[in-house]
Amino acid sequence: KVDRTLGPCPDCGAALLVRRSRHGSHFVGCDGYPDCEFTLPLPSSGKPEIRAATCDDHGLREVKMLDGRDTFVHGCPICAAEDADETDDRAIGPCPECGGEAGDAAGAGGELAIKSLRTGSRLAGCTRYPDCEYSLPLPRRGDIEVTDEHCEEHALPELVVHSGDEPWEFGCPVCNYREYEARQSVSDLEDLDGLGTKTAEKLAAVGIDSLDDLREDEADRLAAEVQGVSADSVRKWQAKVD
Ligand SMILES: [Zn+2]
Ligand SMILES: [Zn+2]
Ligand SMILES: [Zn+2]
Ligand SMILES: [Zn+2]
Repeated sequence: KVDRTLGPCPDCGAALLVRRSRHGSHFVGCDGYPDCEFTLPLPSSGKPEIRAATCDDHGLREVKMLDGRDTFVHGCPICAAEDADETDDRAIGPCPECGGEAGDAAGAGGELAIKSLRTGSRLAGCTRYPDCEYSLPLPRRGDIEVTDEHCEEHALPELVVHSGDEPWEFGCPVCNYREYEARQSVSDLEDLDGLGTKTAEKLAAVGIDSLDDLREDEADRLAAEVQGVSADSVRKWQAKVD
């Protein structure tokens, strides 16, 4: 039997366990339930693995979330929840859904704020939540720097994420999410702008049958061999696929 015990419950001293909800998500619950209703959330992605390392402050073993390339250490669930509680929301600009116009009375509209959740994830959510449920995903790891550069379309600052290696130019959170969605929706050559059935047939004739083929080929070679396709359009398509 797999050991699901994390350590002592801070409320009653019984064992805290990793449990699974009816909806299939994992959380930390107390073995003393229903007498003790202490619970903590766990990240929604991945499968929890309990590590040998123990938190000095709470005596709880650390949790690692196994999720292929996205595997990460969540750590002590009490520490993660406390960190989130202690992190103040950082307002960064008007909420795209309910934010006011420049010149409105202060507090007229909602603001988008960087929030830390007790699950360890972060998002840019509206300060008027739950009245406004607008939110955008933010990366889980790294320090988020709010720069002075602003996206003109959304009046939101460009974000840079620092997590050890190269800083990641995350950009405006709305634009970043739009680009992400656009990438998700491209699953076929003909999903690309300006690439119709005729062009797909011409590409197939020179050995391009899939998005992977397109990504790995030379824009200049394709422009030279396929009539009516410029190297610039190939590069635009390749940028969408990357
Ligand atoms: Zn308890
Ligand atoms: Zn702890
Ligand atoms: Zn809002
Ligand atoms: Zn933007």
